[in-house]
Amino acid sequence: MVSVYALLAVLAIFVVLFAIERLFPLRESRGGLLSRLIVNGILSGLAFFIAAVSVRPSALRALNWASEKPFGLFHLVSMPMWAQFIIGFLLLDLSFYYWHVLNHKVPLLWRFHNVHHIDPELDVSTGFRFHFGEVLFSTVFRVIQVSILGISFTTFAAYELVFQANTLFHHSNVRLPLRLERLLNTVLVTPRMHGIHHSQVQGETNSNFGVVFRWWDKLHRTLGLNVPQGKIEIGIPAYILPGDNKLWRTLFLPFVKQRDYWRKPDGSLAQRGAAGFQGKTSKLAE
Ligand SMILES: [Zn+2]
Repeated sequence: MVSVYALLAVLAIFVVLFAIERLFPLRESRGGLLSRLIVNGILSGLAFFIAAVSVRPSALRALNWASEKPFGLFHLVSMPMWAQFIIGFLLLDLSFYYWHVLNHKVPLLWRFHNVHHIDPELDVSTGFRFHFGEVLFSTVFRVIQVSILGISFTTFAAYELVFQANTLFHHSNVRLPLRLERLLNTVLVTPRMHGIHHSQVQGETNSNFGVVFRWWDKLHRTLGLNVPQGKIEIGIPAYILPGDNKLWRTLFLPFVKQRDYWRKPDGSLAQRGAAGFQGKTSKLAE
């Protein structure tokens, strides 16, 4: 029952963000919304299906197993429920940070995660656009994650909901007043911060890996904020041709010969001038 309400809440958040980003867009759209929505909708549907039949049941089985054994970090040290909840919540998010880094660093995983990144624009519909293969791989990660932590079902369910909600939020193209976003960004991963993660510039894509909290990027020196959204070109340079985002291409992409990801079709590299990012943290730019 909990999951039905969670699903409805996530759906409502999607609809609200979709409406706001049409009214107050952060980055300019280059058109082609309908064709992107179709591709993203089908990829997201497949991802949800795999998550429902593989990730969720496996994670729940691992949760039960860990609590019956008992196995995992939280069964080794006794602490009050509220402390378990907070620390469990934080550790789930930290482990997702590492999983996202691995998806960028391990060539096999990147083949699949790249399908998420080649979306030529970034909005709320990109939020769940993942290749089903990436979702399958994440089943293994989820089982290891919840078993090692030995978290409670409550922590798992609460984190899951916040994870989905913030994933939609930080992928959205909603233009928040800069001061408000900077304030939110002291805690959360926000649209401008994650927009930099979808930039065509290699060093920028390999920054801002966080899902819910921005602190893990700060801690691991992967935080980069000083890139104005108007200067960001979204996508992966080698896959920016219109034909690259056709549904069948995206589905087969991980299984075919890979291009030199960071070179555009004309052979040039996507770079930023001297005033660019260069790993500086600074504050979120407009
Ligand atoms: Zn990524």
